[in-house]
Amino acid sequence: MFSGVSAAVPVLYVRDLAQAKTFYGLFGYAEQRSGADDAGAQWSYQQSGDHTLLLAVVHPPLIPAALPLLIYLYVDDLVAVQARFEAAGHPSDLVGYPDHAPGGEARTHDPDGNVVLFGQRVAVPGEARRRPTDEAARSSLIQQAAEAVGRRGGAPAGCQVGAPDGAACPRPAEVKLADPWGETVWGCLTHADEALINARSAFIATEDGHGLGPWLRQRRSARADQTT
Ligand SMILES: [Zn+2]
Repeated sequence: MFSGVSAAVPVLYVRDLAQAKTFYGLFGYAEQRSGADDAGAQWSYQQSGDHTLLLAVVHPPLIPAALPLLIYLYVDDLVAVQARFEAAGHPSDLVGYPDHAPGGEARTHDPDGNVVLFGQRVAVPGEARRRPTDEAARSSLIQQAAEAVGRRGGAPAGCQVGAPDGAACPRPAEVKLADPWGETVWGCLTHADEALINARSAFIATEDGHGLGPWLRQRRSARADQTT
């Protein structure tokens, strides 16, 4: 039999161990063991059911990179966990009901500023779904971009993003997304929305006449004028 991983322990470097323990305690984590060394480093081994998390403090503190997402946790009851966080002064935003969390997904920040997403795997029926916190603003932008693409044509037939498990998405491509390095992808409305939430620097690529294409065409036509 293949002998693989039997447990995984994410390690989070934090600035204040007590604050971090209070925050992650809201997810049900409780300290199993802790320790410190003479140099001021501290650690706390946290457990919730079968799941573990190591909180660590080092001196000087590490500067975590500005990551769009540091930790993703699945919870049994999203509404209850959100209520617990709200009561503890850590409000969370309902992100939506993506394929990987049909019971809903919420986003908050831990005391170190790390983005923590948590989701519920068990689906809730459509009528029990709540309205995502910033859905109105975001989806209207996506809708506008989709309508602009529809007016000028040019979208490929199908969504190029695909489902979270890597499966092909059968929905039509409606929105073009890009990132600052020039990576682009066409997505359906659902997966464009998911990409905008999770790929933090992604944006909706719109053709507005002020981009590189029109500028380069103008430059090249000036050259053509000179040579004739
Ligand atoms: Zn799609």
